[in-house]
Amino acid sequence: DVRPLVAGNWKMNGTREFLTEIKTIADGVIGPLSEKVDTLICPPATLLYVATALATDSPLEIGGQDCHQNLGGAHTGDISAEMIADCFGTYVIVGHSERRADHAETDHLVRAKAEAAYAADLTAIVCIGETGDERDAYQTLDILKRQIFGSLPQSANAVNTVVAYEPIWAIGTGLTPTVKDIEIAHAFMRAELVQRFGEEGRLMRILYGGSVKPGNARELMGVENVDGALIGGASLKAEDFLAIYRVY
Ligand code: 13P
Repeated sequence: DVRPLVAGNWKMNGTREFLTEIKTIADGVIGPLSEKVDTLICPPATLLYVATALATDSPLEIGGQDCHQNLGGAHTGDISAEMIADCFGTYVIVGHSERRADHAETDHLVRAKAEAAYAADLTAIVCIGETGDERDAYQTLDILKRQIFGSLPQSANAVNTVVAYEPIWAIGTGLTPTVKDIEIAHAFMRAELVQRFGEEGRLMRILYGGSVKPGNARELMGVENVDGALIGGASLKAEDFLAIYRVY
């Protein structure tokens, strides 16, 4: 079976005082459940190095929220995949809808960022998902097909890549798709991944993200082909993150 991943994306939140939450999460995931479930927190880049130090004796992984598509050079303000790896990060989120919106990131660019992640031996969490308008126009599956095709490198496999389905209208809104809709979307993505990547596509993790909370996590994580969660708001509180982790 596919090993689930419970991942937190802190977005542009987290000053040094939040490091106590990292420590509590790192301690909280020590134990038998960690044999079955992977855990990850992606703090802002400013906290990356200290966060990995706090998590050294824990199965908790630490990752970045974005990386540049180039390996290094004159790109003021950006961080490279190698820098994340150098801080002992092991994952990086690429193509989050907020990056696609705030920085006009395209599928083509997201794919290049995933390749940069592979070059630094990071696992790329490639985010895809439709807007509310696209959903209302029944375009969800078309969008997912296009984004899977455009954002995933040909060298993607079940170790170097995680797909995160985040319907944009569900992010930070308290709204989620119905279980049936998630089931349909995830079955569709699985079929697309298998068609393109064969057996690797069957093993690749597909996370659901968008208003995952302790109160709905059991239901959402129970849907077929949902291999974990990408959690925004609820990952900022150790207690909430751990409650979601413990639904497994
Ligand atoms: P929320 O859990 O706050 O809806 O955010 C989801 C998300 O965008 C995670 O990447």
